[in-house]
Amino acid sequence: MASCLFCKIASGEIPGKTVFSDDRIYAFEDIAPKAPFHALVIPRRHVARLSELEASDAPLAGELFVRAAAIAKERGFSDFRLVVNDGAGAGQSVFHLHVHVLGGRPFTWPPG
Ligand code: AMP
Repeated sequence: MASCLFCKIASGEIPGKTVFSDDRIYAFEDIAPKAPFHALVIPRRHVARLSELEASDAPLAGELFVRAAAIAKERGFSDFRLVVNDGAGAGQSVFHLHVHVLGGRPFTWPPG
């Protein structure tokens, strides 16, 4: 989508620090990390938020999570946190679906 920040980062129009890239998924470092390691895993296809996905998108959703976990494990994290904020009230600020991958520090529960 032309006006979407994360579409622009995935296409290379706006620079991002690439963590992973294939024809369906792009992952890049978060600009304001909330942990020593903080990456965002996104579908290349523009989807505004998780709850917009339909049953037929289950393979894509699965791929995002499997890739997110693989990124964390490749960096040596045996314990890590994956987060999806779905909607402004849940903390979503960029409306292109993304899975946060956070690692490198202890995490508490419940989150804020
Ligand atoms: P959320 O609040 O769940 O929508 O997460 C959006 C994330 O995008 C935040 O963690 C931001 O720090 C991150 N972010 C915003 N702009 C950029 C950017 N240009 N490059 C990388 N990460 C960004």
